[in-house]
Amino acid sequence: MTLHDLVIVGGGPGGYAAALYAHNFDLSVALVEKERPGGTCLIRGCIPAKQWLHIAEVYSTVSHAAEFGVVASQPELDWGAALDRKNQTVEGLVRGLGGLLKKRGVEVVSGYGRLSGSGSVDVDTGDGRRTLEGRSLILASGSYARTIPGYDVDGEKIVTSDHALDWDRQPQRVAIIGGGVIGCEFASFLADVGSEVHVFEMMDQIIPGSDPDSAKALQRQLQKRGIKFHIGVKVEPAEMVDSGVVVPFGGERVEVDVVLVAVGRGPNTDDVGLDRTAAKLDGGFVVVDPATMQTAEPGLYAVGDIVADTPQLAHVGFAEGIAAVTHSATGNIQPVNYQAIPRVTYTHPEVAEVGITETQASEQGLDYEATKHAFNGVGRAIIIGQNQGHAKVISLKDGPIIGASVVGPQAGEMIHELMYSVGWEALPSEAAALIHAHPTLSEVVGETLMAAAGKSLH
Ligand SMILES: Cc1cc2nc3c(=O)[nH]c(=O)nc-3n(C[C@H](O)[C@H](O)[C@H](O)COP(=O)(O)OP(=O)(O)OC[C@H]3O[C@@H](n4cnc5c(N)ncnc54)[C@H](O)[C@@H]3O)c2cc1C
Repeated sequence: MTLHDLVIVGGGPGGYAAALYAHNFDLSVALVEKERPGGTCLIRGCIPAKQWLHIAEVYSTVSHAAEFGVVASQPELDWGAALDRKNQTVEGLVRGLGGLLKKRGVEVVSGYGRLSGSGSVDVDTGDGRRTLEGRSLILASGSYARTIPGYDVDGEKIVTSDHALDWDRQPQRVAIIGGGVIGCEFASFLADVGSEVHVFEMMDQIIPGSDPDSAKALQRQLQKRGIKFHIGVKVEPAEMVDSGVVVPFGGERVEVDVVLVAVGRGPNTDDVGLDRTAAKLDGGFVVVDPATMQTAEPGLYAVGDIVADTPQLAHVGFAEGIAAVTHSATGNIQPVNYQAIPRVTYTHPEVAEVGITETQASEQGLDYEATKHAFNGVGRAIIIGQNQGHAKVISLKDGPIIGASVVGPQAGEMIHELMYSVGWEALPSEAAALIHAHPTLSEVVGETLMAAAGKSLH
């Protein structure tokens, strides 16, 4: 039996952020991880997905070079080399994280951990069981890709993002079930490198939950690049045929080589020993006090994708890990500001949002104003040939900015200035008084803020 200040189960963004942050309080930490620290995000999520999207962007830039008077022969995608690049990026970051955990004195315990009663974790290490005791415990066991009936994942013809990030050759015809963030990111990169892509979405818009204007602008752009959307459609069970897979829906049939199921992620909470604690679950997700991240079991915290009613995003995991460690080490609260979390879809173009959407403002009966400014007149956007999209700011009438969205190039970077506006509850007039450099893409935000403050320029 080994006693630590903190024992963490799961080495993804929630767990590793908690482990790293604990050095600020001189805590002794054990991090239990069944694979390698990094989690979904580093190994089969954010990082590899964004690497593929960047590869597609490079390919697309070279393909369109002639539009800028730069003559190059049409590019070819060396899929194997691209896969190597993705693997190198992942490996570099995973190794870097391992080094940082070591430097911070975190004991990484390899094996499968289960909560085993008050303050302890049993770890199946592969050659025996080890029990770790902690003054506090953090559960950060993350999530898995869900599927739907009729789409049994075989890793070949029916896959999840786990497999798709490691495809060893380019699929020519792909059906993506689910037009959420993950589905649209794959659609964007595959279409850019020349695959035929169909996206099936059951709801009435893609990236459900986001501002309908953002969703429409993205769909328009993706459609122009050949992606076929089937919106408001419920697919029927897949049919395997020699030449591929058939996706039947509403009397129609689409044949593809592979189906990527991207219908959301479920929590890894079945077999982690929660039944031996007083922690409460809601639909499999762990219920916590959002001020502290503590569960109903004193001294047991939960962070990351397993937490009920919070966005499944890596940076949310980081913030929740920090909140949990702060409370466990000091008793003080450092709650996550869920109102000001940026949400980015890294498609081409990117969609980024923060705070509430116009739909939510209207559903909540708020007295609000929505102000929009298009990218089409923004000089820098014209220079780079990407002047489609817009910025939108939602503010309370005579009150602060409560939400914003940007669709267009670098939207995921630009959203952060709007994050400050939402987080600091700035009035449009306060934010608009600050000057944006010219010519920059961010001017689309500056122009929107000026218009929201009642005095537009261009
Ligand atoms: C394709 C894809 C793209 C994504 N892109 C983005 C993005 O761009 N930006 C973003 O913010 N989010 C993105 N996400 C979501 C992001 O990856 C998750 O929100 C984040 O990884 C959640 O962190 P976590 O620590 O809760 O869980 P995870 O990252 O899932 O980590 C959990 C860890 O716990 C380990 N584990 C589980 N059970 C046990 C056990 N019993 N014992 C020991 N170890 C265990 C697992 O091996 C894993 O390493 C993406 C996800 C996917 C699938």
